[in-house]
Amino acid sequence: MSHIGEFELIGRISASVNVPQGVTGIGDDCAIIPQHSGLDTLVTTDLLIEDRHFLLSDVTPEQLGWKSAAVNISDIAAMGGRPVASFLSIALPKGLDAEWVDRFIAGFNKLSGRFGVPLLGGDTSASPDKLFINVTVLGECPHGQAVLRSGARPGDLICVTGFLGDSAAGLKLVLERAGGNQQPVQGYDEATRSRPWLREREGPSRQAGRDERSEGLAHHTPDPASMLISRHYLPVPRVELGQQLAALPGVHAMMDISDGIASDLRHILNASAASTVANRARSNFTPDTLPGNMRLASLNGTLPCKIPTSELDLAQMSMDSGQVSALGAEIDLKALPLSEELRAVCAERGWDAAELAVSGGEDYELLFTAAPGTPLPEGCTVIGRIVDSGSEPGMRCEEPGTTDGGPRTKNGGPAIRWVGSDKDFKGFTHF
Ligand code: ADP
Ligand code: MG
Repeated sequence: MSHIGEFELIGRISASVNVPQGVTGIGDDCAIIPQHSGLDTLVTTDLLIEDRHFLLSDVTPEQLGWKSAAVNISDIAAMGGRPVASFLSIALPKGLDAEWVDRFIAGFNKLSGRFGVPLLGGDTSASPDKLFINVTVLGECPHGQAVLRSGARPGDLICVTGFLGDSAAGLKLVLERAGGNQQPVQGYDEATRSRPWLREREGPSRQAGRDERSEGLAHHTPDPASMLISRHYLPVPRVELGQQLAALPGVHAMMDISDGIASDLRHILNASAASTVANRARSNFTPDTLPGNMRLASLNGTLPCKIPTSELDLAQMSMDSGQVSALGAEIDLKALPLSEELRAVCAERGWDAAELAVSGGEDYELLFTAAPGTPLPEGCTVIGRIVDSGSEPGMRCEEPGTTDGGPRTKNGGPAIRWVGSDKDFKGFTHF
């Protein structure tokens, strides 16, 4: 399987699907299905696999239940939606008994109950070997108000909620522990312990999330390593912030951070560059001026309704058309919001905090772009800006939509400029 990338595979699946008009299918954090009620239904699903996404020996059933709900609710938050209901399918290997399931469900309900998301169904099976967990969450938002990945424009500010890199550092600590290295963290003083920066920088929603985490699930102790591990296992989706951001007209594109901004930002760049082409083509096309796959559709007599909508199709289309320069990004590594816990643990262990923050993933914070001057809620940090990589020196895109992460510059580098480092950061990929 590894010869074909995750996104190429999804692109192949997407290419085989006919999406009804008005529906948003594969390619964003959720599918969007308009309803007669004037609301849009949002649907997301995620798979968690033992030894791939978690180590059963190191996670409590409660933590795993919490995280299974959280990663899905986070995709609803990423559209600016309100989560409404959840469904859980679980394949249990031998050795996990009813008590384990009770504890898993307690963690699941703890997180989903916080957002008023009841568990309404699912499926249960035995598994020959590993534990598999699949959760689906439904959400809703007013018609047309979901924030897509594809709305970013040159000049937009790139912003994130909360802190980056905590979860990745927490995972590294878990793996270190699993490998038998029990190195304690030194140099953690009382000033950090009281966490005055928390109230200053995070606002009420983050504080609330932390209180929730400390209620018996997190083995809560005040040392930074435990805090980072708890951020890894007990992420709190940014549901309220997502809705606040979606209500701001200046917020153009949004997604949640599951694979690290080095990877996730490229989805916004690809989807946004491609939708620019699609919009131009929609408003001003003749069969002769259309890029390859749209020309085919026009010959089939299916234009103007049938325009490919998947991120990869659209990126391919922008490449074929040659009529639009792809988008790039500039990220200021000094502006990254890093928690005191991350700084302390990285200083102690010699880890690169910026690298964990951009490449690590599983923060389940929100990554969004906004027009300059947009009044951002508390808890958001500006980390960079979207550029027109066609007009920025050294950033012209030659090859949008490549399977290993999107637009690349003329000399082969990615169309993200990391200000403050010569490194080329990559996010997490599943294959
Ligand atoms: P996220 O990290 O936000 O959950 P993914 O990267 O997992 O998003 O998926 C990207 C897009 O591809 C989503 O729209 C998702 O629904 C879709 N997708 C992923 N795998 C499949 C699949 N096997 N079949 C159909 N759609 C898929
Ligand atoms: Mg997502």
